[in-house]
Amino acid sequence: MRVAVVGSGPAGFYAAAALLGADPPVEVDMIERLPTPWGLVRLGVAPDHPKIKSVSRAFERIAEQPGFRFLGDVEVGRDLHHADLVRLYDAVVYSVGAQTDRRMEIPGEDLPGSWAATELVAWYNGHPDYQELDFELERARRVVVVGAGNVALDVVRMLALTPEELGPTDTTDAAIAAICGAGIEEIVMVARRGPAQAAFTTPELAELGELAGADVLVDPAELAGAEPKDTNSERNLEVLRGYAAREPEGKPKRILLRFFRSPVAILGEEQVEGVELVRNELDENERAVPTGERETLDCELVFRSVGYRGVALAEVPFDERSGTIPNDRGRVLGPEGKPLPGVYCAGWIKRGPSGVIGTNKKDATETVELLLEDAAAGRLAAKPEATADAVLDLLAERGATVVMYAGWTAIDEAERGAGEKLGRPRVKLCTWDELRTAAEGASTTPA
Ligand code: FAD
Repeated sequence: MRVAVVGSGPAGFYAAAALLGADPPVEVDMIERLPTPWGLVRLGVAPDHPKIKSVSRAFERIAEQPGFRFLGDVEVGRDLHHADLVRLYDAVVYSVGAQTDRRMEIPGEDLPGSWAATELVAWYNGHPDYQELDFELERARRVVVVGAGNVALDVVRMLALTPEELGPTDTTDAAIAAICGAGIEEIVMVARRGPAQAAFTTPELAELGELAGADVLVDPAELAGAEPKDTNSERNLEVLRGYAAREPEGKPKRILLRFFRSPVAILGEEQVEGVELVRNELDENERAVPTGERETLDCELVFRSVGYRGVALAEVPFDERSGTIPNDRGRVLGPEGKPLPGVYCAGWIKRGPSGVIGTNKKDATETVELLLEDAAAGRLAAKPEATADAVLDLLAERGATVVMYAGWTAIDEAERGAGEKLGRPRVKLCTWDELRTAAEGASTTPA
């Protein structure tokens, strides 16, 4: 059997592992739009968290197994289409993640200086689609980060790191220079609900208190009466109370964590000059309900981190409301709610953008179990055209250059080699040209 796994993030790799380990083993083509694998492990997880990024070693071991091929720089929707995959493979697993962000839908959201956290994260991690962005950090005195999850904390922390803290990471050189040259004095994180409802986890919250260059401030009044909902919120509250009791040490930057506030407008004529916040109260279901009380906070930059969202693929069912592919435990459901034979999904595009890297293992394994069950029950159509060469021939015909796994290995070696000299894990290649050139010797060329 030959299966196409679309997307090389954690869900794609865990799906591949389950397929390659099946009895009899299944051949896997992992199709990825970037020349580099690992999805958000390379391009989302914060660069100052190398331990978390090191899960990529497990992905490398999966890629070494017989029957695995990486087809990088191949985008489904551009170079290959759903109909091609259905024709050329016994089954397809979509694990394309959540490629965009949710908006706040408030006035001023499109002013220059108002950004999605996604954009900053992709930029500092070296995503080749985001290297042209200029956040004008040098102009910023106060930055507002909207959201109360771990991504919001990543953004707050990355902007507060000192040159010494950033130096040993694989943050791109341009981002290190821009963050170190920024004029930022204060970073305000604004959470819609209370401290007990915040989605961030305690180790990430506690890390803020250990930063060399930033004091963390919390208004004790915003913690008053907070009732923990579970162990995570109990531990969060403990850490927050610790912050509220601290005397600022006069470090160069201040991080303010503010609760019960939502932005209602981003203010400014030509660019962001401030945000208007409304104070919220919680109703009996712990939903934020705005009061009439408003305040204005001057700032030069706003990053919204209010959730990621999946993007529809042509010809593949999509639920606009949840931003996911409709599915039953990973079996993709067609318009009548019936499973589409041979079409599956896993990871963020299956269940929405939540959970840690490991959550995708159980999720992708569940999908593959159903796929194998369907194969064993004869529910997959016979695919006489499903040969290993057919897809490469088609891509060559369409003029697509494919970065094979050896091409990625060449990129990886170049990056690690450049990093080694500087005591950094890697120096990322982050433009399409640099990546393709480094991979060139190990790419297929169009016929
Ligand atoms: P992704 O990792 O997004 O992978 C999807 C892949 O599909 C990408 O490589 C993409 O390029 C590819 N793709 C998309 N569309 C196409 C197409 N049309 N054709 C071909 N390929 C395509 N979890 C932790 O446990 N610890 C952390 O510290 C942590 N930090 C995070 C920080 C950020 C900023 C974010 C956003 C998430 C973080 N997570 C963290 C969560 C973790 O990254 C996710 O759970 C995980 O990456 C989701 O896996 P996925 O495979 O579904 O999607």
